[in-house]
Amino acid sequence: MKTLLEKIVRECSNEWKSGRVATYIPELGKGRADASGLSVYSLSSGPASAGDTGSPFTMQSVSKVASLALALETLGEEKVFSAVGMAALADPFNSIMRLESDAPHRPHNPLINSGAIAVLSLLPWTDGGEKFEAVRDMAARLMAKPGLEIDEAVYLSEKETGNRNRALAWFLKSVGNLEGDVEEILDVYFRQCSLLTDCTDLALLGATLAAGGRNPVTGEQVTSCGTARIVRTIMATCGMYDGSGEFAVSVGIPAKSGVGGGISAAVPGKMGIGAWGPALDKRGNSAAGLAMLKRLSEELGLRIY
Ligand code: GLU
Repeated sequence: MKTLLEKIVRECSNEWKSGRVATYIPELGKGRADASGLSVYSLSSGPASAGDTGSPFTMQSVSKVASLALALETLGEEKVFSAVGMAALADPFNSIMRLESDAPHRPHNPLINSGAIAVLSLLPWTDGGEKFEAVRDMAARLMAKPGLEIDEAVYLSEKETGNRNRALAWFLKSVGNLEGDVEEILDVYFRQCSLLTDCTDLALLGATLAAGGRNPVTGEQVTSCGTARIVRTIMATCGMYDGSGEFAVSVGIPAKSGVGGGISAAVPGKMGIGAWGPALDKRGNSAAGLAMLKRLSEELGLRIY
């Protein structure tokens, strides 16, 4: 497996050139555009990695997988999906347009920014600090990474400049679709997006979901099988932003990306994959990550469709 991963990283080493590092969160703009890494956690043969898989980066939207899993575990499917939809969206992840035009103004799915913010507002902890600790704990258990830290500089940078997310949250509040203190919920959101991870963590996150919620390293049943199935399904339909349809055809694996350049993918019953490259395509997905996942899926016949 390691030899295959090394070959793929080598063959995709120029793919980053078609993308650009995110700069709308100023601190993210410091990322090295040409870095890339690929990790697999196979449920039958364990971990393998190639490229730059130890460098830390922020989870960004990949963290929405953990908050969704937590919400499903604590509140149940019915409650979660009465507040957010399950619909894929052809608009960018931070768009406000359809949220305003489509009554009853519920976020279309839990993996776009408005949906993730709405999910956080539902969680049954009123104190923002406790809410964040619950999300962090879920992410840590999914990735077997106790002591999961946040990147303070990225957190502060997004908190200072995240006015689009503020607009989404205040709009939800104005139509009665957001419970609690808006700024406190946004603070939890900015913190969870700043959780520091690496490629090997994202492979294990995918592997835990691929194994029906059981972390293959710790042996802990982190979520129920049902929660893992729902999270994988929403990843498959909505996880790659407005590129989800294209990704389903070209790669064919449930996956979630983040603007830090990370992608976590879950191949049911087989493996988790972590891919990283900070240069993003126009939809916000890692350019190198997409190319490497496509190659890996083809080489190993991983498409689930
Ligand atoms: N923190 C980012 C934002 O809210 C997350 C977006 C993403 O990774 O897609 O803009």
